[in-house]
Amino acid sequence: MPIDQDFPKNQKVIGKHKHADGEHFHFVWGPGRSDAESATKTEVQEAYKSRGEEYVPLGVHGTMVAVDWDSCYADGACIEACPVQVFQWYRTEQDVPAIEMANAASQGTGENSMKDLRKDYTDKSDPIREHDCIWCMACVSVCPPQAIKVDQANLEYHEKADGTFNEELSKGSAPPPHSH
Ligand code: SF4
Repeated sequence: MPIDQDFPKNQKVIGKHKHADGEHFHFVWGPGRSDAESATKTEVQEAYKSRGEEYVPLGVHGTMVAVDWDSCYADGACIEACPVQVFQWYRTEQDVPAIEMANAASQGTGENSMKDLRKDYTDKSDPIREHDCIWCMACVSVCPPQAIKVDQANLEYHEKADGTFNEELSKGSAPPPHSH
């Protein structure tokens, strides 16, 4: 089951994953789904078992560059495709259960160049540099389970969740003239 194209409408913000630069962050949307690709992918489930870690629904990391972590099964094609290194393997920086990443702060020092450098199949592609996206759509088309949605227009949902949305600015025009 690919990422829900309407996830900002159908899910709610459940976390804020901060970049340690103190400026950037991406929202996390939930609740997650227990019936998406990673729940049935053998490599993923075996990797959880060998860690002795519980498998739980995780939700969507990011809003303009959104990766459904329940759909993501650590293929890593997005990591190799992205020309500006938006993604990193989260466990290569913080090797903790993925649910804890919903409100983590990360430096962005994780592995961001090769799919085979995932920690294991419980790893996830994290859009830690969502703010650097140049909207080329390469990651969207290479993702086998279609776990990624990239949509610049989703900035509206990001700003609404952040409390910084400006209705007039978003229309790109001055307020309408008075009518009598
Ligand atoms: S759309 Fe392009 S620049 Fe943006 S995250 Fe995907 S691959 Fe990277």
